[in-house]
This record gives sequence, C-alpha cells and structure tokens, in this order.
Amino acid sequence: MHSTGYRTHNCGELRLGNAGSEVTLSGWVQTVRKFGSITFIDLRDRYGITQVYFNEGMNHWLDAHPIGREFVIQVTGKAVERTSKNAKIPTGDVEVEVTNVNILNAAATPPFTIEEETDGGDELRMKYRYLDLRRPTLRRNLELRYKVNRSVRNYLDEKGFWDIETPFLIRSTPEGARDFVVPSRMNEGQFYALPQSPQTFKQLLMVSGYDRYYQVVKCFRDEDLRADRQPEFTQLDCEMSFVAQEDILAMFEGLFKHVFKDIKGTELTEALPRMTFDDSMWHYGNDKPDIRFEMKLRNIKANNEVFCEGIRGSEFGVFNNAESVIAIAVPGAAEYTRKQLDELTEWVKRPQIGMTGVVNIKCNADGTIKSSVDKFFNEEKLRDIAAFCGAIAGDLVLILAGAETRTRKAASELRLEMGNRLGLRDNAVYKPLWVIDFPLFEYDEEGSRWVARHHPFTSPKPEHIELMNDLSRYAEIKANAYDLVMNGTEIGGGSIRIFQRDLQEKMFAALGMSKEEAQEKFGFLMGAFEYGAPPHGGIALGFDRLCALLGGQEGIRDFIAFPKNNSGRDVMLDAPSSIDESQMEELGLK
Ligand code: ASP
Repeated sequence: MHSTGYRTHNCGELRLGNAGSEVTLSGWVQTVRKFGSITFIDLRDRYGITQVYFNEGMNHWLDAHPIGREFVIQVTGKAVERTSKNAKIPTGDVEVEVTNVNILNAAATPPFTIEEETDGGDELRMKYRYLDLRRPTLRRNLELRYKVNRSVRNYLDEKGFWDIETPFLIRSTPEGARDFVVPSRMNEGQFYALPQSPQTFKQLLMVSGYDRYYQVVKCFRDEDLRADRQPEFTQLDCEMSFVAQEDILAMFEGLFKHVFKDIKGTELTEALPRMTFDDSMWHYGNDKPDIRFEMKLRNIKANNEVFCEGIRGSEFGVFNNAESVIAIAVPGAAEYTRKQLDELTEWVKRPQIGMTGVVNIKCNADGTIKSSVDKFFNEEKLRDIAAFCGAIAGDLVLILAGAETRTRKAASELRLEMGNRLGLRDNAVYKPLWVIDFPLFEYDEEGSRWVARHHPFTSPKPEHIELMNDLSRYAEIKANAYDLVMNGTEIGGGSIRIFQRDLQEKMFAALGMSKEEAQEKFGFLMGAFEYGAPPHGGIALGFDRLCALLGGQEGIRDFIAFPKNNSGRDVMLDAPSSIDESQMEELGLK
C-alpha cells in the first residue's frame, strides 16, 4: 500500500490475488490500443507494466480527452483476471477495468521509441537522456549499478572499511593523464585541479591511522578521446595498512567473488589464477589477457632470438630481418578462402595494427599443408613451424613479423579478432585473473625518459631497489603492483606503496625530478612519511567498467545515468560552454 492518494500499487505489483479489489495506479502511457469500443493502455513505471482498459462508457471520456504515449496518468478501477494472459510480464494475469482516469500531465511525442530497443541514434538519446532512461534496458543497467554499489559496501563494511570522502578541489597529482583545472576566483591566476584519483589522500589517511578506507568516488582525467572513455568516471578506491601484496589480493578477490555472487547468483569457488606481467606479454601480447580462449601467441622468434628451428636457413627476408616473428594457430580455420585471407591481410595493414602483411600456413583437414611462403620453406620446415605453433589438422597458422613491440601488439589484436570471429569471446562467460609483478618503470618513447608504469607511489620489489642506481637496468625492476583483469579488460589495479621518505625521494629522482621539484609537488606526502607512516597498499577498481562487465556488455556509457559523448560533451546540457565576459574577468582569465 502506498500512502499518497496517487496510487495504491505500482505498475509492477498486481497479481491474480488482487483480482476483485479496487486499485489506483499512476504511471506513463507506454501504448494505446483501440479495439472497437474498448481501449487498452499499457501503463509503465520503474517497477513494470500493467494493462488497463477503458470499456465503452469510459471511451467517451477518452474521445474528449485524447491520451498519447508518455502521458502521465492516474487510473482507478477494479483489478480483474485477464482472459488472455501475458506470461511475459509478472503482472500478466490481471488487468484494471478503469472507472476513473486523471491526466496528471500531457506529453509531447517522444523523439524516439521508449522500448527495449530504440530507433533513436546515440546523440538523440543523449540529448533526451531522461527519456532514454525510461527504457527497460537502461533501467536494468542502473539497477545493476546500484546493486553492485550496495554489494561492495556490504562487503567492505563487514571487513571494517570506512567510507571517507576526499576533496575534489586539489592540486595536480601526476597519474599519467592531464588534469582538469578550475580557476580560483579568490587566488587570481591560480588553479585547483580535479583529482585523477584520491591516491595521495588515501595514503595520508593511512598515515593518520584509519587502517581501512574505501570510497566510491568520481575521478577526472582529461585524456585524449578514445571510444568508451569518460572524462569523469567512478572508481571503487581502497587502501589498507599493515598489509603485503598477498593480503590485498586475498581481500579483493573476496570482494570480487562476493559481488559476483550477489549479482550473477553463482559462486566462484576457485582461486583466481595469477599470471606474471612477463608471462602475459609473452603468451597474450598484452597485460590484460582474455583467458576465455586459448590460441596463445607462439613466439617463433622474439627480440632476435630464434625459438623455432623451422625458420632457420631460409632466404625469407621478412622473417630473417624481423626482430620478432609471432604466430597464432586458429582452430578449424584451414578452410579460409583466398578472399578471406586477403581480407585478413587488409585487416593487419590497417593503421591501428600497422603490419605489412600476414603469412599463413594451412594445415588442411586431409593432412596436406599449404602456405603463402612455400617458395621459401619446404614441406618439412612448414610442418616444423606448424607443430611449433601447436597447429593440428584443420588449423590455420597466421604469422606476423617485424619490430618486437609492434608485432607483439599486432599479434595480440589478431588473436582477439580471431577470437571474436570464432565466437570464443562470450560475454556470458567470466574469466577473472590477477596479473602481477608489473615493471616499476616504462620507457616513454615520446618524452625519451623513464616514467612510472603505475604511479610514482608504487614500491619496487625490495630486492630490486638496488637496481634503481643503474639506469641501464631500469627495465628489469619489478614492482609490487597488480591488476585485476577480466575477459581482456582491466577492471582495477593497485600496489604496495612506498612509505619511507628516502625511498620516495629516490623514486622521484629516478623519474628525473629534481629534489626541489619533488619537494614542491610532494613535500606534503614525504613530510607525512616522517611522522610515522605504516606500511600500506591498496587498489582501485573501475566501477563503471565493472558494472558493464557484470551486465554482460562492453560499453560503460549505458551504465552511467548522465554520460558524456565521445567528444567529452554533455549534449543535453550542451557543456562545456563559454562563460560570460564578467565571469572571465572575475576569475582573472581576461
Ligand atoms: N590510484 C590508482 C589508480 O587510479 C589505484 C591505486 O593504486 O590504488 O590507478
């Protein structure tokens, strides 16, 4: 029972047991169907849809007061058993015979259909987001998001974590992306930055002794446009004191399983697999392996070292001159036609992939073998290479050759593409894992310098600290850093932090920062480390992405109530926008 006079029940509530009683419903008109002298309306709200009908007498009223799609109406009448039941909806056994109707608000014709599938394009849907959000698809997504949030809070609450807010108007923290900045009116010429994450604050909370912190928090990154990135997004951000990597992995594996059980209803009983960063790169070509399917990379040659004898002694310059030669064996694809192979060649030549071609070996089902390079390799060699790649009769071996980094990346993309084509990447299958032992540094080709792979607060493995004194060995240094990965997507990452001033100073120096610069930017944090900082570490999960994955979808946008478009615009508000001259002046921007 609802206390306002607007309704006695919501639109998803009535069941056969209600038949015979008088009810009042309020909601939106989904459809109006006229059958002779009877009119049926599907009335919708967040809870569901109920069919109501207007008999002959009431129809006269309707003729004088036409009701259209998306009108907000209130109806009163008797709930009755339906003669033709609709098993597809929970209210499908009953309908309401309307005796009184009240138009609460008229509606203009919506610019697109408010149905499971809509005919509205992306921009139109975003411009009228409040209408799009009425669609069951979006409503389910937001419900799932709310439930994931609730599940996360229940788990962390149980484990003693406190939700503590951290500020949005801060000073730049370098986490790899550009900052959004906010001009300060009271401090002319000075700017706040919006946080890319609460990283330094959560570490300070550990110094303050809060032990276990979390927040479901907005983060802001002014990154270049990439599909499915949002300039503001949500993290589940966590930090713990007196922990080593193992404690964090156990705690958040527990969280993941808890949420998975709540949302998907199934228990993940086995421990999540763990893979080192190096293994992931070697076998999958990236640091977020999709382990729903095999088809691992076969390293015929890597960094000029030959691993497959079959390629030795040929005149084939493409392999001989390449730094790396990497293959995959595509199961059951030996029947690929000439046309399909040509199309694959075009695919690898696309600028995003950047290869000059792809070599193939067909291991035909009848036992014969055929290759695009049989001019250079005799049958025995081809069989050698195919065997090295793990190919069996019926498989197609695809081989890429070139510079190590590009070839590995291309092979990784090709593997995923073939996985898609073969239907091996089922969104209903979930394969989470931990990727561990990330490198501490990574070389930034553009800036010709070493940068922190995760962020500069991440601790090196203790046994690798020594190597920080030798620039030539930076690539070997591993960090206590880890990522949670699922289905080829990173859902989160974190690290055990540096908590001593001298090591933090060493880290900033390794990143090419002068002592003065480090002090100016991070004096507050290093200062805090001098007043009793506990060992600590944490993790942040991409909340939008986690929800999308659990919802079985790839895009995050429809799991956010009011997202921005791919150019970072809010098309409903038309933001960003210019501001008044006077505002500019006030902010000292003129
Ligand atoms: N602040 C980090 C990030 O946003 C996560 C962490 O290290 O906890 O990636």
